Amino acid sequence: MKDQRDVFTSDAVTQIQGEMEKSAAEGVAKIKEYLEKQKTPPLNIAITGESGSGKSTFINSFRGINGSDKGAAPTGVVETTAVIESYPHPNHPNVRLWDLPGVGTPKFPADKYLERVGFERFDFFIIITACRFKENDVKLALEIKRMGKKIYFLRSKIDSDISNEERGKKNFNRQKTLDDIRENCIKGLHDQGIEAPQVFLVSSFEVHLFDFHLLEKTLERELPAPKRNAFLYALPNISKEIIKKKKDAYQAQIKYHALLSSGVAAVPVPGLSSAVDLVLVVGIVTKYVNGFGLDKESLKRLSDSSGVPYSEFLSVVTSKLGGTTITPELIKKLLSQLALEGTLTVAEEVSRFFVIIGTPVSMILSGVSTYRILNFLLDLVADDAQRVFEKAVAKTCEV
Ligand code: GDP
Repeated sequence: MKDQRDVFTSDAVTQIQGEMEKSAAEGVAKIKEYLEKQKTPPLNIAITGESGSGKSTFINSFRGINGSDKGAAPTGVVETTAVIESYPHPNHPNVRLWDLPGVGTPKFPADKYLERVGFERFDFFIIITACRFKENDVKLALEIKRMGKKIYFLRSKIDSDISNEERGKKNFNRQKTLDDIRENCIKGLHDQGIEAPQVFLVSSFEVHLFDFHLLEKTLERELPAPKRNAFLYALPNISKEIIKKKKDAYQAQIKYHALLSSGVAAVPVPGLSSAVDLVLVVGIVTKYVNGFGLDKESLKRLSDSSGVPYSEFLSVVTSKLGGTTITPELIKKLLSQLALEGTLTVAEEVSRFFVIIGTPVSMILSGVSTYRILNFLLDLVADDAQRVFEKAVAKTCEV
């Protein structure tokens, strides 16, 4: 666990502390303002490429949706009318993937393409191909760059390439095959005038393999800070590392939630009582559950795509917070069942902070308990996500 001594030392908290010292109400306003700023902004991802290159399958896979689910991007169909469709992430609707028609069709000629798709609304572009990148892809990429937007190249269906190569060769070397395909794509793009192209080999059927994690790392590095979290929360749980990053991102917010809960307890607003903490906890834990894809709908979709029965996923969601609606009663029941002794050191550190800022005792208790509870529940939910991920991957490896 993170060193708890510096849990409350960031600039924002110091500022809030100052406000709290002046007046609890102002402190609460400051925290709310801060949390509002932390809300993940819209993220619009443009996916373009020829018909059949795997755009829709990638979009569905990123959203944890199967081709037959409601709201899925239709796959395997020959494009007749070139339309622009946007697909929100089911649990993070502020993150949208846009299925753009391929460049160079009569309705979307290369020289009018960006204008016709309304390029300004997109945060970055992904160009997908299942073979080599063509002249039109390059023209488009150069134009996107000229407009000041980022572009990433995805070489799709890499699972097929690997199995075809494996079948045809005696001394098959998987890593070398992948390196060769990547190098070929990079060289092809470079020779056509794209400097340092960023190429990723992906399989939309096995996003936990190949280069998807490199794409994730690159975007994490290149996206501006608030958009980075929007992207991170919407990512499928394809590795332990991503689960840990999501957990860290949620964890970083807990101190503000704790402060908010302590402030709220001290503000004489009719109707607000200690029950507010529980409501706050319910809302935040629901976010954790959805963010880690442990809600009923996400688990069912994962069960369909992975072949692991839904009940097996539920059996490893030991917190009992997954696959259900989070209610105050459920949280109360859970907390009364759980022994929280293990988090005592955290509580001491937190209490010290609240004492330093001269918070009344009632507020200290409220803030400390919210802090402890949220940390505790986040740990449980992230551990569940880890077990669900392991089950899903184990099943894929069997196949
Ligand atoms: P779009 O026209 O670009 O949206 O392409 P689709 O997503 O409809 O995919 C076209 C075909 O390629 C479908 O039959 C998909 O199942 C298949 N496909 C897409 N992505 C992959 C992939 O990563 N691996 C394999 N093996 N097939 C894929």
